Formats: sequence, structure tokens, C-alpha cells
Amino acid sequence: MFTQTQKLKTDGIYIDGKWIESSEYFHNLNPFDNVLINEISNGDSKHVELASKAASAALDSWKNITSKKRNSYIFEFSENLKNNKYELAEIISLEQGKSIDEALGEIEKCFEYINFFTEENLRINNYNIEPYQHNREITIKHEPIGVVAAITPWNLPVGMIIRKIIPALCVGCTIILKPSSETSWSAIKIVEYFSGILPKGVLNLITSNKDVEVGESISKNKNINLLTFTGSSITGKKIIKNSHENVKKLILELGGNAPFIIYKDADLKKAVNDLVETKFRNAGQTCTSVNRLFIHKEIYNEFLKLLIVKVKQLIIKKKDLLEYDIGPLINKKALLKLQEHLQDALNKGARILYGGNLYNNVFEPTIITDIDSHMKVIKEETFGPILPIITFDNSENLIKEVNDNSYGLCAYIYTNNLLEARKLSNYLDYGMIGLNNNRPTQVNTPFGGFKESGYGKESGREGLMEFLRIKSVYLDY
Ligand code: NAD
Repeated sequence: MFTQTQKLKTDGIYIDGKWIESSEYFHNLNPFDNVLINEISNGDSKHVELASKAASAALDSWKNITSKKRNSYIFEFSENLKNNKYELAEIISLEQGKSIDEALGEIEKCFEYINFFTEENLRINNYNIEPYQHNREITIKHEPIGVVAAITPWNLPVGMIIRKIIPALCVGCTIILKPSSETSWSAIKIVEYFSGILPKGVLNLITSNKDVEVGESISKNKNINLLTFTGSSITGKKIIKNSHENVKKLILELGGNAPFIIYKDADLKKAVNDLVETKFRNAGQTCTSVNRLFIHKEIYNEFLKLLIVKVKQLIIKKKDLLEYDIGPLINKKALLKLQEHLQDALNKGARILYGGNLYNNVFEPTIITDIDSHMKVIKEETFGPILPIITFDNSENLIKEVNDNSYGLCAYIYTNNLLEARKLSNYLDYGMIGLNNNRPTQVNTPFGGFKESGYGKESGREGLMEFLRIKSVYLDY
């Protein structure tokens, strides 16, 4: 276990193969009790400039070695990650708030990404196109896109980094990583497990809480060819604005506002179990978390009883408790947002059926009803353990209501009428759909949303191909 006697100041700026001492540090707090757990280097726009130069200088030699050789570096890192996974899980838990078990689950998924991308990387083929003239050969080539910047959120402090940097490294890109200031210690550990393995300049790290300064200088930097971002839709829009002048390629994995639809013929027990898991995992702080529950009105009462029994079983984090289901919200801003959403719903006529209390920074799982479509809990992404329930009795209105939202990341449908489920999935404006499935996110399938949930894909072959550019080469002889 980490204790407060351990190192409290951590260098987080790693550029051109060296840790750089910073003149400034920012506070890293435990979200449960706001106790200081670490002080971390506070980078700025000068570091972005230095890192982009180092990543550009390292690009040619990195992209010109074989994919197999690049994979071998990643396997060495993977060994380090495996050997240090308990240390890392504790750090994730300390600075992000999820339980150590949940953090270990996040790390285990990283090995799946590493296995998938290093295998898929060996299957990228260049190919020929049939020429319209004799004595001509046309080759379509895939090349690494170049220098990649990755800006990551705090809710999956390690998973979101791995899902970006492993495919980028595999295909021959060099990287500047800027993690969330809330969870920078986990990112530092990832870079530590890589240091001494990768050639200098291939992976650079800038920790900072100067979000706007560093974010803007990454977005505007001309040496950076691709910016892969996971975070809120509000920040995503700022990135689009700031990067348009240099026509940087963007991958934007933004907010979600997932509907969970339960028909009257659904397997109710399974639907309740899956709903509670996917709604309250990470205290409701995941982009695929359920934000709106649509339930057929004929099963509302029966379902509600089952739901409340299940929600009551969730263990809420208390001081010194290591195994729990509901941890703290990440910070004061998140807490205020939840309280504002709940109050807005209550002001507009909603009722609390369960929960609504706060223990330290832990928000109790909360179920609300009498919902209307103007409430913030419906329009916006709440990102916490509040579950609004809406009833329906007709599929056509349902589709309109579910699609009438600016987000389009993930939707869930529970029914035993598989034909109806397939039909409904065709009409829903969401990038990922789970039919009787609450985790439609396997590492070998594309992950990403529509509308204000962003564009571009992560995971799957598509997630690897994003880091490549296509060149057509004509040879006349
Ligand atoms: P956020 O947008 O506040 O911050 C994300 C990152 O952006 C941080 O590293 C932050 O420092 C940086 N940033 C802040 N201002 C910036 C600017 N002006 N320019 C560039 N970068 C800037 O998001 P968050 O609170 O860390 O994460 C939660 C959000 O992430 C939720 O909306 C959630 O749905 C979303 N998310 C989406 C996915 C997905 O795959 N679609 C996955 C996880 C989280």
C-alpha cells in the first residue's frame, strides 16, 4: 500500500528520453477526502514546443524499423506493466476513486488491447490497383500519419492512454501524451514502464493543470499531424476550433448520454443486473454509462421493485473500505454538476424514488421518476450515479424520443423479440448498440459515436488504421 511517507513530488514531464525537472508543481488530490497525495510537474506551452520537436526528430527512425521490431518494444513494456499492475491499480484507485479491483479490471483490458493491436499491426497490407494503361503499376501504400498528440480524460486513466498510444506506436507514429491533471500519476507510471525501452523522442509526456494553455498549444502546433482526444464534447468543440487552421486530423471520443430501453417481453432479471452494472460502474463516470432508462409502462412497477432491491445491494465507499461498488465523484466540479442536474429535475417536477444523499464526495445511487424531456438529466450528460426513468408504450414515439438528443455514443435495448431489436437498432443514431448486451465494447470492434459524441474510431482494425495515411504511387515503365 502507498502511504503518505512515500515520494510526494513526481516529475511528469518526459521529453526526448529525459525526465525534466519543473519549476512548478500542481496538487494531486484523493477524490474521496481531498487529501494531497502527490505534487506533479506543471508543464506549459514551452514543453509542448520541445516535445513536438523531439517527436518530429524521432519519427523517421521509428517508422523505418519493422513492425515486428516495434512490437518487440511494446511486449517489453507489457511485461513491465504486468509486473507492476498492483502498484498501478493502487495509484489509479488513490487518484481516481474506483476500487482496486475495478482498477485491476481496467489494467487487464489493456493487455487485450496490446495483444490485439500488435497482432493486427502485422496484417496491414499495401496493395495494387488495376491500371487503365499498359506499363503502369499503381500501389496503394499505408504510412504512419506522423506525430500524434493524445489528450486523455481521468475516468479511465490508464485504459484511455493505452487505447491511443499502443496502436499509434505499433504503426510507427511518435507521441506526445497529455493526461488529465486529475490522474497524471497513473500516466507517469505508464511512461516509466516504457522508459529505457523506447528510443528517445518516441514517447513524450507533459503533465499539467494548465488545460487551456497546453490544450491550445497542442491543437495549434504544426508539427503534430493527428490529435486523438477523449473527453467532454465541450472540450472537443474547442479543439476543433483551435486546430482548424493547420488542418490537423482529429479523432474525437466525446461525451455520451446512453439510453437503456427495456421492452415488456425482456428478461427482467438480466435487464436489471445489466442496467445496474453499466449505470453504476465507476460511480456512473463512464462515457457508456446509462443516462436515460426507457421502460415499457406495463412492467414499470414490477421492474422498479427488482431495481431497488439490486441498487440497495451496492456497497458505498466509506473511509478505509477497499472493496466497494460506488466510489467518490472525481472533484467538486463534478459534484456541483450532479447536484445542479438533480435540483433542476426536482424543480421541473421529478421525484426521488431512491437515494439522493451525499457521503463525503460519494453520491448515493439515485433513482428519479416523473421525468420530462426538458430536464438537464435528459438533455445533458450527467456523468454520475443518477438514473432517470421514463415510461413508454409505443415504439415509434420511442425512437423519436431516444434520438432527440445531441449525443450518439451508445444505446442498449433489452427484449426477447430479436426481430424488433434488429429493426430498432437500424433506426437509432448511436455508434454502438447492445441488444441484450451491456458491454458492446470488445477490443477488436470499432468504438466511437455519432453527432456530438465525436468522430473517428478507437479499438478494432479501424482504430489502428486511423494512425495511417494512404498514399497512391503511380509507376510508368
Ligand atoms: P474534459 O474534456 O474536461 O478533459 C479531457 C482532457 O482535455 C483533459 O486532459 C484536459 O486537460 C484536456 N483539456 C481541457 N481543456 C482543453 C482545451 N481547451 N484544449 C485541449 N484539451 C483540453 O473531460 P474529462 O472530464 O476529463 O472526462 C470526462 C468526459 O470524457 C465525459 O464527457 C466522458 O463522456 C468523456 N469520455 C468519452 C469517452 C469516449 O470514448 N467517447 C471515454 C471516456 C470519457
